[in-house]
This record gives sequence, structure tokens and C-alpha cells, in this order.
Amino acid sequence: MSMGNEILSKVLDSLKTKVSDFNYKNWFQNLSWEYNEPGKVLIKVPSKFVRDWLTDHYLELIKFEFFRHTELEHQITFRVGKPSFKNLDLFAGQTPNTKAPNSASQTPAAPSKEATTAAPANKATAPKEPNKQKNSQINSNVISQLGFYPRYQFENYVVGNSNQLVHAACRAVASQPAKSYNPLFIYGGVGLGKTHLLNAIGLDVLKQYKNWRILYVTGERFTNEVISAIRYGKTYELRKKYRENCDMLLIDDIQFIAGKERTMEEFFHTFNALYEKRKQIVLTSDQLPKDIPNLEERLKSRFGWGLMADIQSPDYETRIAILKKKADEDGIPLPDDACDFIANNVTTNVRDLEGSLVRVSAFASLAKLPITLDLTKEVLKGIISISQPKLSVERIQSEVAEYFKLKIADLKSKRRHKNLAVPRQIAMYLCKTHLQVSFPELGSKFGGKDHTTVMHAVQKIRKCLDTDPSIRSDVDQLEKHMSL
Ligand code: ADP
Ligand code: MG
Repeated sequence: MSMGNEILSKVLDSLKTKVSDFNYKNWFQNLSWEYNEPGKVLIKVPSKFVRDWLTDHYLELIKFEFFRHTELEHQITFRVGKPSFKNLDLFAGQTPNTKAPNSASQTPAAPSKEATTAAPANKATAPKEPNKQKNSQINSNVISQLGFYPRYQFENYVVGNSNQLVHAACRAVASQPAKSYNPLFIYGGVGLGKTHLLNAIGLDVLKQYKNWRILYVTGERFTNEVISAIRYGKTYELRKKYRENCDMLLIDDIQFIAGKERTMEEFFHTFNALYEKRKQIVLTSDQLPKDIPNLEERLKSRFGWGLMADIQSPDYETRIAILKKKADEDGIPLPDDACDFIANNVTTNVRDLEGSLVRVSAFASLAKLPITLDLTKEVLKGIISISQPKLSVERIQSEVAEYFKLKIADLKSKRRHKNLAVPRQIAMYLCKTHLQVSFPELGSKFGGKDHTTVMHAVQKIRKCLDTDPSIRSDVDQLEKHMSL
């Protein structure tokens, strides 16, 4: 393997671990990557949509991965053109007989007549989609120097039941930094909008306080900075940067520092210094501090000093609203039935929702066809099953909670009000019927209940299926929705 291909394969391997299966399959795996000169990478993409989407979502990550493996800044260039054979595989089923005999990921694309678009060195100069640049008050160079994603602003963030509280908390922090909640700790699963909100806070603050020194880094980058400061004897500079020359610290995916002793130590002192000086700190994580393995206790407790706010998966109405907003922003004519189909079938997270929309619209524009329900079904048919998480107690709990508009915590609580008890019993019944799981195990997954409680619940719902049409219909609909 040539040096270039070796680097490429390392980068692709690590990208695979960083993006969801869905998006890796959807995009990375099907692009044609070339590494012909040191430091220069060419990625061939089938359409401008794909280019813009990748630029917005993954350019920084791609660059970062090349840097991590080579310690060299790489120039990433996208070429929009006819899809390579490999790209046509992306739309398998639509293009029979076009499979390439050899579709290694470096298969050269068909020659493109379209101009090569050099990917910008930073996000701020990324190609803009329609209606995007409403916010011109902040200098785009400043945005990019600080590492922000220009499109992740409050204006582009759709608020629904699942994120109302966290959104309100972020707005409060942005309008009165260090005066409302400090630190603000945002947690939730992948693709639910944590990075978006963190950016939105930073950009909003920047609009009000142009000269503020806002530091926005991921937990991973912070870790790497600590490692390199230690290696090159620059800890003094690092401390100056984070503890003294900083008016606001935004750290994305803080869970990454867990288990890394020197980094946790450094962060502990940084936190204390900023907190004492009443500087706002906002952190995001994929789980609650207490559940982050190998995170020092003293950090866990500090993370809880302010407000902890979670983001849940968006419900159906919010999924529709998000799709409509994205379609509108990107000028994609998305009919209601196609929108409804996507919202009903891609229920995992917002990133997958966006990925599906972009995939449908990329295909339609490539094939020069209007977006219809049939086209949407066809394009997403291989993807939808990937986006549905495997059946588990947690998934059943989350589907039942969404269906009855409750919180998962309500299903696990001991409260006996009928509005909670019946959904809880239905959830237990569905778990017992469709999963190989014991009564005691279920008891513990439902907030530490006795196994006899679960047994009674399951028996009760079984009986009700024959006698209570409303419970029968709830169970039917839930089973249908989870394809059981
Ligand atoms: P996380 O950091 O939680 O993994 P991101 O912030 O990267 O998730 O969000 C994934 C994608 O979904 C981003 O493109 C983001 O803009 C979009 N997104 C997430 N939540 C919303 C929302 N409520 N409204 C609009 N877009 C959203
Ligand atoms: Mg994120």
C-alpha cells in the first residue's frame, strides 16, 4: 500500500468510529478519496448538496483526523461531478448494471466537467446554502478562528418538547453569561443537537460581546492540547490560555477527558480558576456526570454545581418541524407525504434525519427527478433499518414514553397514578413479550421494582387485550410503530 493510501485507510478507519454507522454507510464509504500528493486530499462527491453537507458537518473532523495521523495540516478538496462507479453503488437499485468490477475506495471518478471546488480552509467560508447568511453581524473570520460552525445558531434550532428546557437554559446563559447557570451541563445521545446548542451560545455571546475571548473546543482537542503542552514544555502557555485569557469556556463532549489523568487534573484547575472569576462554563456530554466511567469524583461534583439539562430524541411533531425547516433552508421542495414518511421512519436522532433528507435530495437532483413519496421510499429503503436501533428494554421504554407523552423517568417511578401506571404496565408487557428478559431483570430496569410487580403488570395487560379496546389499540399501535 502506498503511503497516501495507508494514511487514507487509517483516517477512514478512525472516521468509522467517530460517525454513526448510518452516516458512515451513507456518505464516507461511498465517496471516492484520492491522496496523490502529501498533504492534499481529493474527495469526489456526486452533488453540491453532498459537498455542502460534508463541509458543514465533517470537514473539521476529516481535517482533524488527517492531522492526528500525520501531524500535518491537510488541504481537503471536494470535486463535484458525475458520480464514480462507487458513488452509483450508493443508489443501488436505481442504477442496475452500473456496478464497477473494481470498486475500491480509490476508484477514480468519471472525468468531471464541473469545476473543482477547493474546500475552504475553515468552516466560515464554506459554501453557503440559500437563506443561510442572515447573521452577518459577526465577522466570519472571527467565527472560524474560534472554531464555530456558522450555521449552528439559535435561529436554526427547532424547539419542541424534547429540547424545550435545555434550549431555554442555553438562551438564558447566552443572554446573561455566568449570571444564570454556571456551569451549564448539557447531556444527551448522539445527533440530538448538543454541539449545535453549544455553538449557538458561543455565537450569540459573540454578537453581544465582540471582544470576549471565547474558547470553544472539544474534549478531545483539549486532551490533545494538554498532551502536546506537556510534551513540548508549554504548560505555562496552556494555563495562560485557558485560565487567564478566557472569558467563556465551551467544551463539547467533555466525557472524552475521562480516564486521562493529566487532562482531568488540568481541567479541574481550569474549572476552578474560571469559576472563581465568574466566567461562564458550558459543557456537553453523552451522559450524566455520575454515569461517565473513570471521571474523577471532584469533577463529577463540580459539573453538577450549576444546571444539568438533557436533550431527548425529538418526537414526531418536532421531527416534522426539523425536516421542514431544513428543507426550507436548503431550498429543497419536500412534499408533505415524503416528509411524513421520513419523520415516521427515521426516529433515532436529528443527524440521521438530516442525513436522510440530504440523501433523498441528492438523489433527486442527480437523477433530475422531483422528490415524491415513492422516490423517498426507494432511496431510503436500505437505510431505514439501519437507523432503527435494535429492540431493547431502553428502546421500548423510550417509544412508550414518547407515545404517551411521558418521561422515561415516569415509567421507572413508583407513582401509581393511572396515567402513569397503565403506560408503565404496557411497557413491561411489551418488554416481556418481545424480549428474552427475566421478571427480576425487568424489575430492576423499571426503577428497581419487585419481580412480582412486573408479573402482575404483564398479566394485567394480557387480560386487558381482550377486554379493553383502548389498551388493545395502544398496544397495537406501539407494536406497529416498532415493527414488532
Ligand atoms: P450532537 O452534538 O448532540 O451529537 P449535533 O449538534 O451535532 O448533535 O446535531 C446533529 C445535527 O442535527 C446538526 O446538523 C444539527 O444542526 C442538527 N440538529 C440537532 N437538533 C436540532 C434542532 N432541534 N433543530 C435543528 N437542527 C438540529
Ligand atoms: Mg456533538
